Amino acid sequence: MLLVLPLAVALWAYAGWDSGKQQAKTDARLQGWLQTAVADYSRILRDAEQRAAELGSSPRVQSALARRDRRQLAHLAGPNLSFELGRSAESATPGAVSRSVEVVASGRTLGRVIVKVPFDADLLARLERASGFPNGARLAFASGDRLTFGPGGTESQARLSVHRAVDLVTGGERYRAIATFLGAGPQARKLVALAPTAGISGDASGDRWRVIVVGFGVLVAVLLAGYALAPLIARNRLAKHQRTQAARVLSHVGDGVFLIDSEGVIRLWNTAAEAITGLAANSVCGSPAQGAISGWREVEPLIPVASRPGDQREISGAETVPLDIDGRELWLSIAGVAFTDGTVYAFRDVTDERRLEAIRSEFVATVSHELRTPLASLHGAAMTLRQRHERLDADTQVELLDMIAAQSTRLAALVEEILLTSQLDARSLRIASEPFDPEQLVRAAVEEARLRVSDGTTVAISATKVLPHVVGDGMRTHQVLANLIDNAIKYSPPEARIEVTAEQEGESIRFSVRDDGFGIPGGEQNRIFDKFYRLDPDHLRGVSGSGLGLYICRELVRSMSGRIWVESAPGRGATFSFELPIAEPFLAGVELRPAAHGSRSSRTRP
Ligand code: ADP
Repeated sequence: MLLVLPLAVALWAYAGWDSGKQQAKTDARLQGWLQTAVADYSRILRDAEQRAAELGSSPRVQSALARRDRRQLAHLAGPNLSFELGRSAESATPGAVSRSVEVVASGRTLGRVIVKVPFDADLLARLERASGFPNGARLAFASGDRLTFGPGGTESQARLSVHRAVDLVTGGERYRAIATFLGAGPQARKLVALAPTAGISGDASGDRWRVIVVGFGVLVAVLLAGYALAPLIARNRLAKHQRTQAARVLSHVGDGVFLIDSEGVIRLWNTAAEAITGLAANSVCGSPAQGAISGWREVEPLIPVASRPGDQREISGAETVPLDIDGRELWLSIAGVAFTDGTVYAFRDVTDERRLEAIRSEFVATVSHELRTPLASLHGAAMTLRQRHERLDADTQVELLDMIAAQSTRLAALVEEILLTSQLDARSLRIASEPFDPEQLVRAAVEEARLRVSDGTTVAISATKVLPHVVGDGMRTHQVLANLIDNAIKYSPPEARIEVTAEQEGESIRFSVRDDGFGIPGGEQNRIFDKFYRLDPDHLRGVSGSGLGLYICRELVRSMSGRIWVESAPGRGATFSFELPIAEPFLAGVELRPAAHGSRSSRTRP
C-alpha cells in the first residue's frame, strides 16, 4: 500500500504532464505541416504565373489577341484559364486567386492572359498530398469563421485565431487546429491545419499505460527483491543494533576500557578511560600506545593478560601500576584479556587508595619513630631509678624525674595531635565562631612561648594599633599561633629572633610568624601542610616532630573560613601567615565592646 499509493500519484501527475507534452508535440507538428502547405501553395501560385507568362508569349495566343479573335480565344481558354482583350484592370476573382500577364506588341496592349487557382477541394487535396499529411489530419480553407473542407467541400463554422493552436469541434469531431493567412488584405483567406484530438489523447493514454505497466513491474521487482533480501537486511540491522548497544554499554561502564591492536595501536578508549586519565578518545585512538600513554612501555610487561575473560587460573588478578599522565601520578589497577583483534585492558583508578595506603604506612613509621625516642628515655630513666636509686645523688634523681615528666608530656602531645587529626578528618571537631580580640590572643601566645624558650631566642610582637575583633574559635586560633611559634623556634638556630604580628588586611586580620631560620625550598612550601610531611623525615637535624602540626593548623584555619600560607627561601627564614575574617559589626563600623560578663555576641557556623 505504501508503495502503490505514491506510484498512483506519480502516474496521475505523469499523465497530466504527458498530455500537455503530447499537445505541444501535436501543435508543433501542425505548425510544420501548415508551413509546408503554405510553401506548396506559393509554388502553385508561381506555376500559375509561369503558365500565364508562357501562354502570353505563345504566337497563337498573341495573334488571337492581336486579331481580337474571340472565338479562337474561347477555344484556347480552359476551366482556370481566361483571356481579356485590350487594356483592362485586373479584377479579383471570388473563391480563387489569379495570376495574369499583359500581352503588349509594338507598345500597344493587346490583352491579358489570366490563370486562376480556385480555393476548392482539389487545391486542398493537392496541398495535403504534397505536405504529407497523415491519416486523420486534414487541411481546410477559412474565410471569416467559415471553414471549407475538401474533397466534398463541406463547410462548418469555427472560431480560429491565426498562428495559435486552438481546440475546435466540427462535424461532430474534436480537432486541434492552427491557421495562417494566404495573402494579405481583409478578404484574405486562411489555410487551416487540423488534427483529431482522439489521436493525441490516444497516444498519451498509450504512454500512460506503458508507464503503469513498467511502474507495477518495477514495484513487483522491488517487492520480490525486498522479500528476498529481508532476512539479510534484518540480520544487518540486528548486528548494527548490537554494535550500537555494545558501544553504549561500554561508554557507561565505570571501569576504564581500552583496546590495543596487534600493532600496538589504541583502537578503543571508553568514556571512563577518558574521565580517569583525562586523555580524550580522539587524541589517543589511532596512535601507538607507547606514544599516547607515557610510561606504557615500562608498565605493559607488568600487566597480567588472560587468554579468556574471567580466567582465574591463568592470572591471579589485576596489577596496580603507576602512570605519569601530564605530570600527574595515576595508580591504576589493570588487567587485560587477549583476543584475535588485540588486547582489551580494563582498569580502575586506585590513586586515592594508594595515597591512603602511603599515609597509613607513613603514619605507622612516624608514630613508631616518635614513640620510640620518648619511650626509650622513659624506660631508661625508670630502670635507672628502680635499680640504682639508693646509689644516685638527689640531683640526679630529680633530673631523671624531670626527664620522665618531659617525655611523658611529649608523648601526651603526640597522642593529642593524632586524636585531633582524626577528629578533623572525621569533621567531628566542634569549632566555635565568636568574636575575639586578636591582639590579646597574640600577646598571650607570645608570653607562653617566651616561657618555653631556653636558648636565648627572642620572641617579639609587632602589633602597632588597636585591631578589630576577629570571628572564629579563640582557643583554636591560639593553638595555631602557638604551633607556628614553636615551629619557628624549632627550625631556627639558637639565639634566633622571632617576630609575631597581627594586622588588618582588608576584611581580615592577618597573623604572621617570621623567623630567620633554615627556610623551606619553594617546591616543598605547599607539601609541608600535608599530613605527616616533614622536610627532614629521618630527623637528621635532630629536630623531632610528627609532621602533623601544620596539617592541623591548615585544617583549623580553614574551618574558621580563613587561609594559611608560607613565604620562604632556603636559609633565609620563613614567614607563616594566616588570615581570619573580621567580625561583622566591626566591618559595619560598629564598635563591639570587649568581651566581658556574657556581653559577647556569638554565632555558630555549620
Ligand atoms: P613537625 O612536627 O615535623 O614540626 P609540622 O607539620 O609542624 O611538623 O611541620 C612540617 C615540616 O615543615 C617540618 O618537619 C619542617 O620540615 C617544616 N617547617 C615547619 N615550620 C618551619 C619553619 N618555621 N622553618 C623551616 N621549616 C619549617
